[in-house]
Amino acid sequence: MLKGQKALVTGANSGIGKATAIGLGRAGADVVVNYVAGSESADEVVKEITGFGVRAYAHEADVSQEDQVTAMVDRMVEEFGTIDIMVANAGLQRDAPVTEMTLAQWQKVIDVNLTGQFLCAREAAKEFMRRGVVPEVSRSAGKIICMSSVHQLIPWAGHVNYASSKGGVHMMMQTLAQELAPRKIRVNAIGPGAIKTPINTSAWSTPQAEKDLLTLIPYGRVGDPEDIARAAVALASDLMDYVVGVTLYVDGGMTLFPGFATGG
Ligand code: NAD
Repeated sequence: MLKGQKALVTGANSGIGKATAIGLGRAGADVVVNYVAGSESADEVVKEITGFGVRAYAHEADVSQEDQVTAMVDRMVEEFGTIDIMVANAGLQRDAPVTEMTLAQWQKVIDVNLTGQFLCAREAAKEFMRRGVVPEVSRSAGKIICMSSVHQLIPWAGHVNYASSKGGVHMMMQTLAQELAPRKIRVNAIGPGAIKTPINTSAWSTPQAEKDLLTLIPYGRVGDPEDIARAAVALASDLMDYVVGVTLYVDGGMTLFPGFATGG
């Protein structure tokens, strides 16, 4: 589905980013596996992707650092010739009640989750514009997929930095989509619900925690990284060529206000 396309996934040595990088490779794309720490796990992802007969390499970069993001995309253009798909996935949490949240905790989450996505989107957009549409490759000049969260919509006590970063991603994504659509660049987001990854182990790793979590998920199961990977592959493909500026919630219905199923 993505044969001949070149994709970069940030935060691709763990969780959703890892599954997405592998999913894009399986769909035929060459993939840059970005990571900030843990070169062994990044190398394992590369190995799995090259097993599909496509190209891949790992690239260490902190997405919140402008020079590192620029260098990462420059190297990709050198090695792969261009970029067609940018998945701005890297993200983290630094949780605390607001009265205990330090400025450093606030700033770190905004820097990685929001500014990092801005830098990745900007650098990809420059290359998309330089190259334009190559009809044999894709109907669009490039795709940017922002990994947002249901918390761009659902307020989240104790996580004001994280929820604010994802609210920012939502408006950034829509604004970029509006700005770049005339250049045939599609900008969209995925809003995962609760997905089993290291970012939220405490929310699902014990039977009681999982039971509590399931009260928030009408579809009755916690998501897997592959649920998000499949959505990312679809969103990146020409099957979704007319989809511009949307957040695809992949959340088992978490954004349907499940409390209202029996109340209200
Ligand atoms: P994860 O902790 O498994 O993966 C996060 C990845 O981002 C890791 O590879 C980490 O090293 C990387 N990263 C962190 N800071 C970075 C930096 N400065 N530069 C480059 N990479 C960096 O967590 P995950 O659940 O896979 O999260 C991936 C994305 O999905 C995040 O944006 C997260 O907010 C979002 N998300 C996750 C869930 C969920 O339930 N797991 C729900 C909604 C949204």
